[in-house]
Amino acid sequence: MRDDNCIFCKIAAGEIPSNTIYEDDDVRVILDLAPAAKGHALVLPKEHYANLYEIDEDVAAKVMRVAKKMAIRMRDVLHCDGFNLLQNNEKVAGQTVFHFHMHLIPRYKEDKNDDILRYNHLELSEEEMAEIRDMLR
Ligand code: AMP
Ligand code: ZN
Repeated sequence: MRDDNCIFCKIAAGEIPSNTIYEDDDVRVILDLAPAAKGHALVLPKEHYANLYEIDEDVAAKVMRVAKKMAIRMRDVLHCDGFNLLQNNEKVAGQTVFHFHMHLIPRYKEDKNDDILRYNHLELSEEEMAEIRDMLR
């Protein structure tokens, strides 16, 4: 599967140059062009899936396996102090490139990115929590 208008399809296929740090038959890991931190990378499946709703389960599992491998490598090589995995789906959630990708974001004690994952907390009643729990399980 491929989308000829998709830049990440072209990058994943090696048709557009990228700073590739890992590649196998199924995925390519590239450095993000606008990094949130030193080493910020993206895991791209070589096949085109728009988002988490669409991605094949086995491919999703491979993406996660590679994410783990890269996290350990970044810890050992870059000596990052922590790590965020981030994966955006749809515009409202911040997705700007509509080819599934997982962000690998090494975190450093001295980085100025405390707000990468900061969000406003909702105050929900016990009843509201129970209703949501019952809807989703
Ligand atoms: P998202 O907001 O989750 O869709 O993330 C898209 C990410 O892709 C952003 O962090 C961009 O900086 C990054 N990006 C967009 N185009 C390229 C590119 N050609 N090479 C590397 N990273 C890119
Ligand atoms: Zn694509």
